[in-house]
Amino acid sequence: MTEEIVDKPLPSPSGFAEPFWEAGAEGRLLLIRCKSCNESRVPSSEVCPNCLSVDFEWYEASGLGVIYTYGVMHRLYHPAFEQDLPYNLVVVELQEGPHLPGNIIGIENDALRVGMPVQVVWQKYSDISIPRFQATT
Ligand SMILES: [Zn+2]
Repeated sequence: MTEEIVDKPLPSPSGFAEPFWEAGAEGRLLLIRCKSCNESRVPSSEVCPNCLSVDFEWYEASGLGVIYTYGVMHRLYHPAFEQDLPYNLVVVELQEGPHLPGNIIGIENDALRVGMPVQVVWQKYSDISIPRFQATT
């Protein structure tokens, strides 16, 4: 009997968001600030969702925030996550305002609470680091 090992899908950094991933490899969290309206955001789009400007700058965030919302996944949607079930998915409200999705590590899912203070931690995979969070208590 053989067990198939399935690799987890990972982001392929390219384009405007590359600085986010390069900083993450150094353990730093970068966010975008719109130079037109000053709104802060995660690098999900080159276009500001507030004013539609494409003029922005990167800045280093604190990496601190609180759990805005969360869920616990009990159903398998991808074979690479079978060993992780049940795993949590959270949306963290960063101190700077933007919401960043991820997972909380180092804590039981039953202990998760909205408003719990967390900090970003970068987990290194083969050639990329992924932002996750841990409770700061
Ligand atoms: Zn803007």
